[in-house]
Amino acid sequence: MQIHLSFDYELFFGTSSGSIDNCILKPTQRLMDLSKKHQVPFVFFVDAGYLLQLKNHNHIVQCKSDYDKIALQLLELKAAGHEIALHIHPHWEDSFFKNNSWKINTTRYKLADFTDTEIDHIVTKYHQAIIDITQIPCKSYRAGGWCIQPFEPIKKALIKNNILVDSTIFHNGFHSSSAHSYNFTSSPNKDEWCFDNDPCTESSNGLYTEIPITADRIPPLFYWNLYFKMKSNPAIYKPLGDGNWLVDKKRIYKHFYSGTNHFACADGFFASRLSSILTRCENQQRKRMMVLSHPKSLAPYSFDALDAFINKAKTKGHTFSTITS
Ligand SMILES: [Zn+2]
Repeated sequence: MQIHLSFDYELFFGTSSGSIDNCILKPTQRLMDLSKKHQVPFVFFVDAGYLLQLKNHNHIVQCKSDYDKIALQLLELKAAGHEIALHIHPHWEDSFFKNNSWKINTTRYKLADFTDTEIDHIVTKYHQAIIDITQIPCKSYRAGGWCIQPFEPIKKALIKNNILVDSTIFHNGFHSSSAHSYNFTSSPNKDEWCFDNDPCTESSNGLYTEIPITADRIPPLFYWNLYFKMKSNPAIYKPLGDGNWLVDKKRIYKHFYSGTNHFACADGFFASRLSSILTRCENQQRKRMMVLSHPKSLAPYSFDALDAFINKAKTKGHTFSTITS
């Protein structure tokens, strides 16, 4: 099996975006150490709108310094053989830096909230913001907040940028809130497929390839367990990032009472599920396992669990790779 450990490289988008050191730089450095130890490459979906906004605010000393730190780390990731992929959170269009912090406006959280012409500009200029640093065009895309639908207007912009691989879908994923909107309940339950106008509809001659995030079904007991672990031992289970998630409170409470559709993930205590997901993928004779995590949400526990997971998977003969290698 090919295993892809992917990380959405970004700040938080709730009431506090958090610090660049704790949300991005330090956890990513620990990931680089882990990758070096095991000699395995990772995939980083870089929130390119953030890069562009740092650049737009380069008259502010902190923004210029943060841009330089991110650029340096992206070059280190590239040199170490990790894949740098495109991640788009278009709400950066409406967000700005003032009084030492980002004022995040998520009124227009998904690309579908913009016109076709605006989408074309956003995708192209965000992609260019990554190329300006790495000098290499991206090959893979992941929509911010999983909001990839409707796909048609995004499709034209991605073709223009020669990005033909997507990794946004997780089987049975569904969310509808003021910010998020996605419905993957009709997606194929496969390791990869081709598509054209709708990533949930397989099309044998489709121009695009979907490499979905491995789905997971989480029982309510897990969330009770997570809650008590965080309370009783925050030094181990609390994420390193110091910002706040953009949350849908109604949805969070639901997790405690009914099973929820999620995905393979190493964030915080979610990393405890990786080993059993691996076994399930083996039993189902899967060819791929795609894990989605966030540097900002990794806890000390996550790094130990990832270390154990990589060891176990390698021992069983599985390989770790980037998506497009
Ligand atoms: Zn994101």
